Amino acid sequence: MRANIKKNHWQLENTYANLPALFFSLQHPVPVTKPKMVCFNPALANELGLEFLYGKKENIADYLSGNKMPNGARPLAQAYAGHQFGHFTMLGDGRAILLGEQVTPNGKRLDIQLKGSGQTPYSRRGDGRATLYSMLREYLISESMHHLGIPTSRSLAVVSTGEQVFRETIHNGAVLTRVAKSHIRVGTFEYARNFGTKEDLRALITYALKRHYPEKKDADHPALELLKMVMYEQIDLVVQWMRVGFIHGVMNTDNMSIAGETIDYGPCAFMNAYHRRTVFSSIDTNGRYAFDNQPLVTQWNLTALAQALLPLISENQEKAIGLAQEVIDGFQHTFTERWYAMMFGKLGILHPHEEDKNLVDELLSLMEAHNADYTQVFLALQQEKELYGSLFRSEEFKGWIQQWKKRHLQKGHKESSLELMNTLNPKVIPRNHWVENALEAAVKGNMAPFDELLVLLSKPYDNLPDELQFQQIPEGFDAQYQTFCGT
Ligand code: AMP
Ligand code: MG
Repeated sequence: MRANIKKNHWQLENTYANLPALFFSLQHPVPVTKPKMVCFNPALANELGLEFLYGKKENIADYLSGNKMPNGARPLAQAYAGHQFGHFTMLGDGRAILLGEQVTPNGKRLDIQLKGSGQTPYSRRGDGRATLYSMLREYLISESMHHLGIPTSRSLAVVSTGEQVFRETIHNGAVLTRVAKSHIRVGTFEYARNFGTKEDLRALITYALKRHYPEKKDADHPALELLKMVMYEQIDLVVQWMRVGFIHGVMNTDNMSIAGETIDYGPCAFMNAYHRRTVFSSIDTNGRYAFDNQPLVTQWNLTALAQALLPLISENQEKAIGLAQEVIDGFQHTFTERWYAMMFGKLGILHPHEEDKNLVDELLSLMEAHNADYTQVFLALQQEKELYGSLFRSEEFKGWIQQWKKRHLQKGHKESSLELMNTLNPKVIPRNHWVENALEAAVKGNMAPFDELLVLLSKPYDNLPDELQFQQIPEGFDAQYQTFCGT
C-alpha cells in the first residue's frame, strides 16, 4: 500500500491564479548565472513532502533559484498596494515569484515563493534581487521564530546566484525559498479596493476566507467576519512577538499577512535590555514601529483593512463604517487582556487576579529603569538565580520578588507554574551580536557559525549551560546596532 502513496514529489496547485487577472502578473523568475545551494532545511522539506530534494543537491539549486521550474508551477508575481509609514502606494512582488501552493502530505496548502528572483512588472526601479546576507538573515530569524512557537513564514533554502548585487557596496546575490500559509496581505485588499471593482474585492474576500478561515466561508457577513478573524489572529501574533522581545521593524500594511503569520523579515531584531521604545531600523526615525508601538500600529493596519472592506461590509456606507468601527473598537481591550494573560504566564501566575496587572507593570518599569535584559530576567526568576547588574541589587526589586512569590508559588502548584514559565520564556533568542557574527562569516564562505547558531536556536526552551543563558551582551552593541529594509 505504502508504495502507492506518492507523497514525496512536487504537488503544486495554483488556486491564487484563479483570482481575477488584476491580482497578479504571470512571470517567470529571471535565470541566474551560477546557482549554488548555501543552506537547506531538511525538516521543512519533509513536512512539505519534498524530501527527495535533499538527495539531489546537484540540480536542486537550479529549481530553488528559479532557473528550472518544478512540475505544476505557474509562476507569478502578486499585485498589492500598501501603506508604508502611513503613506499609500502601489507595490506588488518586485523581487519575488510565487511558484504555486504545495499541498503537503498532511493536507496543508503552502505557498512556495522565490525571493530575490529578478525583476517583475512591479519592480519599479529595483533590480529584483536580494543579497546573500539578507536572505540568510531571513532564513535564520524566521526559522528561529518558528522554533519559538510563533506563527511565521518559513525558509526552505538559500541559493547563491553567482551574481553581484549592488547596494551601498557590492554583495553576493541569493534567492530564498519562502514557505507561507499565503502571501495575501492587508495591502492586497487595499489594492483591490483602490484599483479593482467591487466584484474583484468580493472575489478576494471569498478566496481569503476559504483558504484561511474556511469555517467562516459561508458566514452571513463575510467581509466583517474576515476583519474579525484577521484582527484576532494578528492580536495573538503581536502578543507572541512581545513575549520574546521581537521587533518586526517595518509593519507597513503590505507586510501584514491576512493569515496571521510573521512575514517580510527586513529590519527586524530582538531586544536585549528592556526599553519599550526600542527601534533598530535605520529608517524608523520616529519610532513608528518601536517595540511598544506594535499593538497600536497593528490596530492602525486593521483600520486600513476595514477601510478596504467597507463596500462589502454594507451597501450603506454609514452602516458599514459603524459595523467596522465596532470591530476595531474591540481591539484595545482584547489586546490588553491577551497581553496580560501572556505576561502572567511568563511569571508563572496560574490563576491571575486583576491586581496582578500591577505586578507586571512594576516589573517592566523596574527592568527599564535598570537596563535589565528582557530574556534573562524571566529566566532568572524561573530558575531562582540572581543576575549581575543593578536590578537584582535594588531594594524595590527585592520587594517586588516577595510580592511575586506570593502569587506565583502557591501551594501544590509550583511544578505547573514552572512548567508554564518554561513554555513561555525562551533560554535563547537570536541575539543581535550572534546573528551578525554568523552572517559575517557566512557571506565570506564560512557557514559553521551560522549552522551552529541555527542548531542552538532550534531548541530555545531546552536547558542550556548558564554561560549561554546568562551571557554578557556586548556593552553598547544595541545602541549602535542598525538594521535595514530591502537589502
Ligand atoms: P519590503 O521592504 O521588502 O517589504 O519591500 C517593499 C516593496 O519593495 C515590495 O513591493 C518589494 O517587492 C519591493 N522591493 C524591495 N526590494 C526590491 C528590489 N531589489 N527590486 C525590486 N523591488 C524591490
Ligand atoms: Mg514587503
